[in-house]
Amino acid sequence: MNRIYLSLSQQSGFEIEFVEKALQSNWITSGGPNVDDFELELESYLGEYSFVTALNSGTSAIHLSLILLGVQQGDEIICQSLTFSASANPILYEGATPVFIDSESETWNICPNNLEIAIIDRIKKGKKPKAIIAVHLYGMPYNVDKIHAIADRYEIPIIEDSAEALGSSYKGKKCGAFGEFGVLSFNGNKIITTSSGGVLVSNSKALKQKAIFYATQSKDDAIHYQHSKIGYNYRMSNICAGIGLGQIKILKEKIESRRNNHLFYRELFSTVEEAELFETKNEDYFSNYWLNTILLKSSKAKNDLLQAFERENIETRPIWKPMHMQPIFERYPYYGDKVAEKIFENGLCLPSGSNLTEADKIRIVNVVRTFFN
Ligand SMILES: *Cc1c(COP(=O)(O)O)cnc(C)c1O
Repeated sequence: MNRIYLSLSQQSGFEIEFVEKALQSNWITSGGPNVDDFELELESYLGEYSFVTALNSGTSAIHLSLILLGVQQGDEIICQSLTFSASANPILYEGATPVFIDSESETWNICPNNLEIAIIDRIKKGKKPKAIIAVHLYGMPYNVDKIHAIADRYEIPIIEDSAEALGSSYKGKKCGAFGEFGVLSFNGNKIITTSSGGVLVSNSKALKQKAIFYATQSKDDAIHYQHSKIGYNYRMSNICAGIGLGQIKILKEKIESRRNNHLFYRELFSTVEEAELFETKNEDYFSNYWLNTILLKSSKAKNDLLQAFERENIETRPIWKPMHMQPIFERYPYYGDKVAEKIFENGLCLPSGSNLTEADKIRIVNVVRTFFN
């Protein structure tokens, strides 16, 4: 039996055209016509005032957003704890201090109450946080209204980690376009892929030009090689952008398939009392359902179900382990209770790729039915 994976890349068939064009015109380098076109496509997708800089990863985009906000050694950066480590690692690249925040149970994302408690406490301790990294985890938008109202009140910029949320929206506006900076990822397992890649979304042309400047080794305006800032080799390759141009042609279909997977799981778990499918709570939220997740009643039930799937060669995985529980991050401040910890202990990610077949779904149904009977 073939293995069913959590989330695999899926080709449209158009990728080869754009890659071939790059090869034939000898644009085999970072930057180039495919990169420009890919940025334009995303700018029109995300909506007005979205300026997109294509980079070699989502992680690079988070790093550059910190640099563009002027983050320096010793600064404090607030970050959602329940996320993938790539949200938080760039804080350490800059020698800054992460301050982790628990999740709220409605969205699993950064908790507004704990966010405000943390801001007030950090200010009282003498340092106002320089930025907030908020994540739309598994495609579920965070509570944009509440989080941005708090950020505005204390005048702290938001970096919106939308790596998993291309196609998600909140009150009709696309995720990735809310923050001072937005981040998308095109890693192989995300909604669309460029093999490896990401973009930084900003709200001005000047910021986009600055991002390109840093991403291409910070070359000053001179005939010789002159540098007055630390530079990075973060620009997206023209070959990768070609793959992205082919992928974006079926973005709508891909999101539709993911959302159909969600409907499949909703039906499947509607009669299973021991598992709660994670879903949007009201009409304000529109999730791409990048990954479908469930909460079991205990950590043991989660592990047993994971093993049951594994025996049928079906990949499932625990939820991201919160950053404040990670050996590399556990010594940094944390504000919250045990919401993220509980989600981590009892939660499981289910196969959710846009290429999940009907035959795959039957195998998944069989495991679930047998396990809970
Ligand atoms: C994938 C991911 C990233 C990093 O993106 P890369 O393109 O893999 O560097 C950052 N944050 C979250 C939440 C992610 O899932």
